[in-house]
Amino acid sequence: MRLWMHGCGSQPKEGARHLKELGFEAMVGGEEAVQAALDQGLQAYLCSGAYRGPAFTGEEWLAEDMWGRKQTWFSSTCPTRKEVRAYNLDTIRKMAEKPGIQGILIDGVRFASPSSGESSDAFYTCFCPHCMEKAEKMGFDAKEMRVAAAMLYDFLHGKSLDLLPFYAGLKEWMEFRRAATTEHLLDFVKTVKEVNPDLKAGIYIFAPALSDLVGQHYRDLRGKMDIIAPMLYRCYPEKSGPACLNVELADMLRMLGEAAHLTPQQRIYALNAVTGHELVGYEDPSELRKGLDVSILRREAQRAKRMSADQEVIPIIELDDPKLETAISQTMAGGADGVNFFLYDQALVEKHRDLWRRISG
Ligand SMILES: [Zn+2]
Repeated sequence: MRLWMHGCGSQPKEGARHLKELGFEAMVGGEEAVQAALDQGLQAYLCSGAYRGPAFTGEEWLAEDMWGRKQTWFSSTCPTRKEVRAYNLDTIRKMAEKPGIQGILIDGVRFASPSSGESSDAFYTCFCPHCMEKAEKMGFDAKEMRVAAAMLYDFLHGKSLDLLPFYAGLKEWMEFRRAATTEHLLDFVKTVKEVNPDLKAGIYIFAPALSDLVGQHYRDLRGKMDIIAPMLYRCYPEKSGPACLNVELADMLRMLGEAAHLTPQQRIYALNAVTGHELVGYEDPSELRKGLDVSILRREAQRAKRMSADQEVIPIIELDDPKLETAISQTMAGGADGVNFFLYDQALVEKHRDLWRRISG
């Protein structure tokens, strides 16, 4: 089977040699790591961030919530600023000129998730004047979106109110996230292909259970994005873990916990409705935080594959998953075309030497 790795360590030459020796096919990373991978005869993909850059570190670039409060998320700016997007595409253009690479994977083209900022408040973005104007131009009712998001915020902060009348506005908000995100993703693909039509354009994308929430829609990328790399992290142990299923779902359950008038059962129903999974036995956010059953990898890979037509689906999973071998087989059982791992660690890769030898090729 096809094995990929994200990064190759602080000593890229040795890391790349290690991966080659153990039968890995490809490495995804920055400039130096990619050069080391190419020198070893591995396939190599450059990885790019999205909404950030040295000129965009001031307050004025930050995303805003419904009340104009600045919110920081994933070291990113407001997701729709023209200058930031143009800078990102320029960076992609330069990356695409690197000889020998197979393609480019983009990361962070989305809106904030519940776990993207210091608190869940960052999720309620972006309603800055640029986004409001863009939403109107794209045919959305920006004011309705903002009012509905404020109602959701109140609802999830203990206020007793009926959310149903604001359903249309919430849908509008999510649809705006989708339209604005897909727009930049397609610009990214176009930019890569303009420089070199043979290069593959790929995306590190949220798992299907979470992707709609941040504006990433698999079906919008059908037949356009060459590589779909769903981030399927099920038991991420660090404190901060945007995109990780256990972290995001635990934070969502915690947010629902603040809605005082929902019963514990209704909170789980709400989580199930958003994620499309039947999450039983996770009434307590701290239980959820410890990790989801390994079968979630199969179910999420299956959904990603179904929505992705003929594209290559190569999920990225945790290298430190305590059930690594089962995690790999579950991901493959879901129809994945290969498995990528986060993140290269010399000792961990070495620990599983026999496993790589057995399954590579
Ligand atoms: Zn904005």
